[in-house]
Amino acid sequence: MTHGHTPEATESLDAEPLPDFSWRAAAPVMGFYVAWCGLAFLSHLAGRTTMAPAAAGLLLGAVLITNLLLAILNLPAGRATVDSAVATGQAALAIAWTTVYAVLAEGPGELVPGMYLTAVLVAFTRTDAVRLRQLALAAGAGYALSVAVRLLAGGSMPALWGEALQCVGVVGMLFLLSRRARQTEQHRDGLSAQVDRLEQEVERVRREAERDHLTKSFNRQYILDALLREKARADRTGRGFSICIFDLDRFKALNDEHGHLVGDRVLTAFANRARRALRAMDAINPTRFRRALGRLGGEEFIAILPGTEIDGALRCAERVRDAVARSPVEQDLQITVSAGVAEYRRGESVPDLLTRADQALYAAKRSGRNRVRVSAVQAKQPAETEPAKPTLRLVR
Ligand code: GH3
Ligand code: MG
Ligand code: MG
Repeated sequence: MTHGHTPEATESLDAEPLPDFSWRAAAPVMGFYVAWCGLAFLSHLAGRTTMAPAAAGLLLGAVLITNLLLAILNLPAGRATVDSAVATGQAALAIAWTTVYAVLAEGPGELVPGMYLTAVLVAFTRTDAVRLRQLALAAGAGYALSVAVRLLAGGSMPALWGEALQCVGVVGMLFLLSRRARQTEQHRDGLSAQVDRLEQEVERVRREAERDHLTKSFNRQYILDALLREKARADRTGRGFSICIFDLDRFKALNDEHGHLVGDRVLTAFANRARRALRAMDAINPTRFRRALGRLGGEEFIAILPGTEIDGALRCAERVRDAVARSPVEQDLQITVSAGVAEYRRGESVPDLLTRADQALYAAKRSGRNRVRVSAVQAKQPAETEPAKPTLRLVR
């Protein structure tokens, strides 16, 4: 029915553009590189940690090219996987280039711990805790490697000892951060499980609110809203619809004779049988649009038949009438039902449409019950249902 998968919905989904994600992810990282290059240059000017201009130029070029390559290679891929993969790749590259800087730079490597920290933090909010831990290990290994290389190249032991301690401090801090990330992840997973449960609950309550509690058919409010939606769609697209109003025959007598509880069971049984009959029609003549059975109130029901003209609606109503009259619906209680059918006429109001179906229903009642009548302004009436069965009969 109206809440089904509509062509309008499909069109709007198709229009969503592919996100240009890798480029956006690359920008902040390049910002970090610029900041650290600036600090390294200042350190160079201050005569603290220096680097040969050719080596610095080569390093800068390599940083640029590898980061651009990473962004370009990941550009066409999907969003969620690219985000984490690109972030991890960027962090790994930053660790590698920091290690190269730590090896090539001369003087105290006071900028290096901060560089490693920044390198791993690049991925902090964008990858999972396991990858963060691997990056922390890689940073520690890179740092240890650079210290070892400088020691082998004749660096002074006391100065390098200080750097080695810094290395342990950095790795420890990164591990603490990855632990924190893991806790955040668990917290987030718990929250999203809660959100899922809440969404399911909201969906359940929403479905309940659409239903009549006794017969599980759609309730009056839902049906009136659905009719307004169906009318709007018909006016917009030209695809029409029909309605059938069903009213159980002499139901008051059944209640009086057998009590309200039995009456309630009969109403439920009727709704089940009518739904089955409507579904069977769908199987014979499948349409993309779901038919809906609703309870207008008391022992009066309505079927909305989207994309159905008067002849099809008449067949539907007749099938429901026949399914009810054919055998007792509840224990040995035989009931019958009358129906009025009307096809929506472009531009008419929903109350007018309901009134026409109601008039047809009362014509069916007047002409003996257990029959279907079509709205007078529409096509020919069905052949008489002969003979009209007794409206309430106890079959023993
Ligand atoms: P007709 O063939 O002309 O439709 O006669 P009827 O007796 O079915 O029509 P009427 O409108 O006089 O009676 C409808 C009865 O439906 C009145 C009420 O007792 C019964 N009814 C309405 N709602 C419920 C319900 O929720 N449960 C039960 N058991 N009975 C209901
Ligand atoms: Mg009735
Ligand atoms: Mg009635």
